[in-house]
Amino acid sequence: MQEFSRYLYRAPFVVSGTGPVIVDGAVLTEDGLVVAVGPYVDLKDADAKQEDYEGHVLTPSLVNCHAHLELSHLAMLSENSPVSGDMTGWIRSLLAARAENSDQEIVHDAALMALARLYGAGCRAVADIGNMLDSRLLGDGFKTEVFFFLELLGLCGESEESALALLSGIDADVRCAAHAPYSSGPRLIRALKERAQAGKGLLTMHVAESTQEIEFLRTGGGPFRNFLAERGVEVDLFTSPGMGSVKYLDSLGVLDSQTLCVHGVHVEDEEISLLAARGATVCLCPGSNRFMGVGLAPVEKMLAQNIPLVLGTDSLASNPRLSLWQEMQVLREDHPGIAPEAVFAMASFNGARLLGLGERLGTVVPGVSSSLLAVRCPAKNEADVFEHLTSAGADIQLEWLE
Ligand SMILES: [Zn+2]
Repeated sequence: MQEFSRYLYRAPFVVSGTGPVIVDGAVLTEDGLVVAVGPYVDLKDADAKQEDYEGHVLTPSLVNCHAHLELSHLAMLSENSPVSGDMTGWIRSLLAARAENSDQEIVHDAALMALARLYGAGCRAVADIGNMLDSRLLGDGFKTEVFFFLELLGLCGESEESALALLSGIDADVRCAAHAPYSSGPRLIRALKERAQAGKGLLTMHVAESTQEIEFLRTGGGPFRNFLAERGVEVDLFTSPGMGSVKYLDSLGVLDSQTLCVHGVHVEDEEISLLAARGATVCLCPGSNRFMGVGLAPVEKMLAQNIPLVLGTDSLASNPRLSLWQEMQVLREDHPGIAPEAVFAMASFNGARLLGLGERLGTVVPGVSSSLLAVRCPAKNEADVFEHLTSAGADIQLEWLE
């Protein structure tokens, strides 16, 4: 039994996630939960062991809404120079590297290392996309909770049929995901949505990441057509919908508040309105997008229409850093006009709510987990706190409170 089950953490600033920054704030915890939060002066007489975090800000832990832990052993791909938009070229290199580096022990160890890195960078939960069923166990024993999604691909003909057959045999408690509108066919996407709905869960997929994707959906041609044909997909059997990715997904009836569109770079104004009308969430991956050279998501327009936005690191194969602090920094560099408070919410509260963890993570209020962060912060007044948190990047210093 612990000597103290009650702790009082004091810091110059506390970010509760639900109200203004608390100056000279404190958080009282007991048995793994937050009991009270407020100005230190109101809590100082609590019967608890006190720990002072001078020079820090206390914040909720972070939530990563898109990663591929399974690809962590392919970090060499993001050590090279950035890709400059050639999505199919990068996928070719990825598949080749994956074939050459298939030792399962190495794959597994690299995934665990990546998970440890996420934890070290303050991430308490991660939506992880993988192609191997065993990867659903990666989070066992880790404090960072892994929400694993088994990703299915198959665009048309035989490839879509086999994916559908595979899907029908997967246990109901395994979450599944589509890959992308250019690689998972319409029947497969619908079946995955029905399955997600039955389990009251999310449908997640890569959406509108590159111009090549849009070209393929609009015209049926371009680099993706050649790539898919090269992979043995009977691409002639795919009827291109003649529209962008979001419009296409909406035509399939799969866009709603339980749909997570990852990347969302190449979306037209009309599609932004569609996302807003359906209540779908967009996961921005600014670091990966920058490395891949696919362009910038229309974040300001999405925010203007109140589209829920969350952040994802994507994998080490397309992003040299696995840090949501880095994602926040890149997002702010790319979109300097966005309020830093909104950016921090994307990495914390919005992600927690999306994964159904809003009662436990993403805020500092009574009843949530006491797994909070003490983040080193040179801010002198409360107006600078979010500015610092969202622009410090991956080298930010932090420790876990519990
Ligand atoms: Zn991804």
